[in-house]
Amino acid sequence: MDAGPAAVAVIAGLVALAAALAFAIRRVMRECERLRVEHERLRAVVDRVPSLVAYLDADGRYRVTNAQFQRLLNVDGAAAIGRTVPEVLGDAGWALIGPHLRAALAGEARRFERVREVDGREVHLQTDYLPDRAPDGRVRGVCALAVDVSELKKAQLAAQRDREQLVAITDNLPALVARIDLDERYTFANAQFASQIGLDPAAMIGRTVRELRPEFYDTVLGPHVQAALRGEARSFEGSRVLDGRTQHYRIDYIPDRGADGAVRGCFSLTIDLTATREAERASVRSEERLRRITDSLPVVISYLDAGQRLRFANRTLGEWFGVPVPALIGRTMAEIVGPALYAERRPYIERALAGERVEFEMEAEAGGVRRVTQTTIVPDIDEQGRVCGLYSLNTDVTPLKTVERRLQALARSDPLTGLPNRLHYDERLAEALARQQRSGNGLALMFLDIDRFKRVNDELGHAAGDAVLREFARRLRDVVRLTDLVARLAGDEFVVLLEGLHSDAEPQFVARKVLAQFQAPFDVDGRALEVTTSVGIAYHAAGAGTVAPSALLARADEALYRAKQAGRNTFRLA
Ligand code: GH3
Ligand code: MG
Repeated sequence: MDAGPAAVAVIAGLVALAAALAFAIRRVMRECERLRVEHERLRAVVDRVPSLVAYLDADGRYRVTNAQFQRLLNVDGAAAIGRTVPEVLGDAGWALIGPHLRAALAGEARRFERVREVDGREVHLQTDYLPDRAPDGRVRGVCALAVDVSELKKAQLAAQRDREQLVAITDNLPALVARIDLDERYTFANAQFASQIGLDPAAMIGRTVRELRPEFYDTVLGPHVQAALRGEARSFEGSRVLDGRTQHYRIDYIPDRGADGAVRGCFSLTIDLTATREAERASVRSEERLRRITDSLPVVISYLDAGQRLRFANRTLGEWFGVPVPALIGRTMAEIVGPALYAERRPYIERALAGERVEFEMEAEAGGVRRVTQTTIVPDIDEQGRVCGLYSLNTDVTPLKTVERRLQALARSDPLTGLPNRLHYDERLAEALARQQRSGNGLALMFLDIDRFKRVNDELGHAAGDAVLREFARRLRDVVRLTDLVARLAGDEFVVLLEGLHSDAEPQFVARKVLAQFQAPFDVDGRALEVTTSVGIAYHAAGAGTVAPSALLARADEALYRAKQAGRNTFRLA
């Protein structure tokens, strides 16, 4: 038998087999290469995903971990492969993760958050455990995905803090603060809703204004809320009776616009004005009371502003001027009293405007009646020390003055200086003239008038003028003999009567002494004041016959006139 063909067949078969094998091996190798490339691609993708990625098999062992796994959990990802969660993350990690992993392996997707410290930084991880099911539905593993939400968390926390702060501020504002959305539903209400009107702010959220405050909405709020939601700011005041008490309020609705300018709701602010209104009413009532009091007083009470315009006056002022007060308000003092009277008052007003309290007496005619008035002006000084107006009180002292004058006429001494008055002087002069007839001595009448005395009154006030008159009288009394008569005739006019004279040289000698007596300045309220006098002398020699007292005074007066003409602070002999 020839073995040749059989062997050929076997060899050929083997060759074909080898070729097929080589082909199959090449295919497997190609497939392996393809899988390796694919795996590397997948690995590259999985490592570049900015989230933690891991795969745990049905036994709870890690099969895949990516680069973020290592970074965010701070464990060696390659070493974790094939090991369990407690082995890799320890007991603490397992306590957190265990329940979720078991649930996911039981087919339930789980999401949970965990916080880990990585490189000294708190990292918030939002983790998803998703069951991986085989085609037959059996869970064969779990895909774990964790995203670093630390930044988001931080922003959320900051926003929450901001919101808490805002809520704390609005809760403490003494006003109702709310936000209303386009459906007129409250999206925010502060705590004042509870304390002021008994509405629980939490329970208000999501409910409409109409639902919560039906009556108030229908009668007042509705149109305003609707206008605000159309983009129109609204502000209004009103009052209503709440629990039997009238409540005054002010409400503002301000549209809330988004970045695009579209209205997305509105804010509402409600302020309780009850206390303010009540205080206002009380102040009006007290002003009315004050006005009734001032109106019924028989004195003029007024207030001038810094521009000397009348801002307040009681009814008496109107009665004095014969004009109703409202017609005088806003007019200047000069307009009200006229130029002549104003010129007299002006120095006092100006002193008061400079901050001084002034008092003066004045005789004037107003509304056809002549009155002597006593005026006190008190400056109204503000916190900065500026005079912003003047309070003035005018009292009619005419009856008092009349009585005073009558009493003065009856009395024989001048109340201001204590010197004999005109009446006393008249008597004494008549006696002296009679005596002269018998004695055969000369007699002189000296007539004195203070120089420029009006200025003292005008510049320093009437009280200072009086002080000057008193001091003048004292010095005059001191400079002559006790037996000589010194009297005050009127105003700043004085007389000295000298008896027992031998020539007209004697009264001239006395006149020089008198002038010298006024060389030293007067002290008026600590101010040094030059006060001089002019003197007119009438000398009546013995044996010159009789002379009427009035004629003697007229001669002295004429001499005084010449002394004034000569420049004052001097004397002249008639
Ligand atoms: P002359 O040098 O020409 O005398 O100027 P004079 O400013 O002194 O003018 P006159 O003597 O006419 O003015 C007297 C002033 O005295 C007028 C009046 O206002 C004032 N007077 C009159 N009686 C009193 C008084 O009892 N007390 C005060 N303080 N002043 C008075
Ligand atoms: Mg005078």
